[in-house]
Amino acid sequence: MQNLPSTVDLHTHTTASDGELTPCQLVESAAAAGISVLAVTDHDCTAGLAEARAACAEAGLEIIPGVEISSSWSNMDIHVVGLGMNVDDTRFQARLQQQMERRLARAHLVAQRLEKLGYPGMFEAAVQAAPQGIPARPHFADALVRAGACGDRKQAFQRYLAQSKPAYVKTEWPELVEAVRWIREAGGVAVVAHPGRYKLTRSKLERLVKTFAEAGGQALEVSVATHGLDMVKQLADLAEKYGLYASQGSDYHGPSMRWVQLGRMPALPGQCRPVLDLLGWKAEQAAR
Ligand code: AMP
Ligand code: MN
Ligand code: MN
Ligand code: MN
Repeated sequence: MQNLPSTVDLHTHTTASDGELTPCQLVESAAAAGISVLAVTDHDCTAGLAEARAACAEAGLEIIPGVEISSSWSNMDIHVVGLGMNVDDTRFQARLQQQMERRLARAHLVAQRLEKLGYPGMFEAAVQAAPQGIPARPHFADALVRAGACGDRKQAFQRYLAQSKPAYVKTEWPELVEAVRWIREAGGVAVVAHPGRYKLTRSKLERLVKTFAEAGGQALEVSVATHGLDMVKQLADLAEKYGLYASQGSDYHGPSMRWVQLGRMPALPGQCRPVLDLLGWKAEQAAR
């Protein structure tokens, strides 16, 4: 079994974006899974952090404020996790607000496509499925399931929402280097999210890492629940080569994705410098 239990999970979602659990429920599940350091990293949004912070204080967990910013590089969507930013920074929040407006604009276009496919009213339905009122694609998936168009989120992506499917609409996200700058300017650490999930060739993956490091990015998610051990090793080598720290996270979205569990991911190879060191956390502290 390559996914081992860890006490540190630095990539999780709540109902503030497309997660299934409220911040309180997420923290309860994290405590039950034996996690002692938790980062909550909702898509382009920090609205879940206040509740998560209070729940972590109650449950005795350390929380690292986080976010997962949608960006663009080489015509692809690349996600950049920010850890430890000052989320009260007004310029940072203004930038997240722009991201929300991009999401709403795209949501109208997705709904138009779905209407042509025979599913009217999907903008309103997706907004309703999103507790913060900002629809991500999984909220469209939930709305489609409710309309009887498909059985679950996965099917909705396969039939309608994934890239090259009929209701896919490209979003004009900011450049990768911009996302890094936003996080750094708010005092955070910028991390390439799940680098193994973009299906890049070795040389293109290295180009991504090089661009990111040159832009001031500081870490790679070397260990992710969905990374195989070959990918973990490849990323550990790239992090070492480009002087980057290593992060680890499950990218947990809730209990219905049964193959992803809180705190379960491959171990970080010994050559890695854990990103917690950069955030001022000591490994011993995390293990307590
Ligand atoms: P968005 O940021 O609105 O484009 O939505 C992206 C989110 O959709 C990701 O963070 C995943 O949670 C989810 N997602 C992307 N691709 C799939 C897929 N093939 N099946 C299920 N969920 C997916
Ligand atoms: Mn998601
Ligand atoms: Mn992501
Ligand atoms: Mn994520």
